[in-house]
Amino acid sequence: MDLKNKIRVIEGFPTDGISFKDITTLLQDAEGLKQCINQMADKFKDLHVDIIVGPESRGFIFATPLAYLLGTGFVPVRKPGKLPAESIKYEYELEYGKDSLEIHKDSIKPGQKVLIIDDLLATGGTMVAAAKLVEQLGGEVVGLGFLIELMDLRGREKLSKYRVESLVKYN
Ligand code: IMP
Repeated sequence: MDLKNKIRVIEGFPTDGISFKDITTLLQDAEGLKQCINQMADKFKDLHVDIIVGPESRGFIFATPLAYLLGTGFVPVRKPGKLPAESIKYEYELEYGKDSLEIHKDSIKPGQKVLIIDDLLATGGTMVAAAKLVEQLGGEVVGLGFLIELMDLRGREKLSKYRVESLVKYN
């Protein structure tokens, strides 16, 4: 199934000049959602994965059902101040200012093989932060998976030391 047909593109959202990839039309489609998770599983079927990590918030949507399908646990990476137990933080630069992400300290055990899943790869900043958090806990990042990859932003280059898989590509 061509998943691209099920993603709605909205020009000028949230600001002028942005061509927003709206995944809600794919999510609300029973067959589209099922195919999406199955295709992600297929991309990594050669790997042994111990645990799946997903960044807030759209990463949760795909990482959790994939974890269920592959029989692993799911670990959230969250915006600052949301996680209740002891956490570590990774700060990263944005075009204007800084952002950070956090993960629970006890969520990944040293040596665990970790797959990180998000909805969309743009500049790669979010995924670098998620991967660094996993590595700080001693996890081994064995793959990065995305539903959508925005090729022109070349996020893949920032992630060149990892295996990167995406299901739908836009220029
Ligand atoms: P990056 O850190 O620049 O790679 O941006 C990736 C993050 O931005 C992902 O977590 C996405 O949820 C979000 N994002 C950026 N552009 C879009 C879009 O067009 N549609 C949906 N999410 C987007």
